[in-house]
Amino acid sequence: MSDPCRSVAVLARIAHARGLRVKLLTATGLTQGYRDIDFHFCIEGELVHIDLPCAEDRIDPDGPCGCGRSFGGLNSHYATTTAMIRDIEDFSPADYLEALRSSLDQQGYDSSQAVHEAAALHCLARSWPAGTVVERRLNQVVSRGIFREPQAIHP
Ligand SMILES: [Zn+2]
Repeated sequence: MSDPCRSVAVLARIAHARGLRVKLLTATGLTQGYRDIDFHFCIEGELVHIDLPCAEDRIDPDGPCGCGRSFGGLNSHYATTTAMIRDIEDFSPADYLEALRSSLDQQGYDSSQAVHEAAALHCLARSWPAGTVVERRLNQVVSRGIFREPQAIHP
């Protein structure tokens, strides 16, 4: 048995075949302030991804940079410490991969590993119900709680 999360292309075929909606990580202002070091500069509801922390924050999620505790907005290119799992209608894992790849390209980052990150984020998001707000602590993403399920986002 191959790991269904190994390939976004496989996931995309499954999603299209079954007409599934996709759950993804999106920026939210909900629960901001739960930690003193929270910040939210993203657009509400935009797709986010998880970047590797820089040298300053590599071992400390509460480090001075903030990148060890934040998610990066694919559109705004800003960051937020809070993300919500949302159902995205008419959007496939392949669409997410394209969004991630073009965002990384626009920012001048290497997008060659985007397929792996997209698959990992897709697997992460589907572990929680839509409406769950999560925070990041370096390589861990943990729930802050489940809030009412928001309306699906139409990209
Ligand atoms: Zn940093």
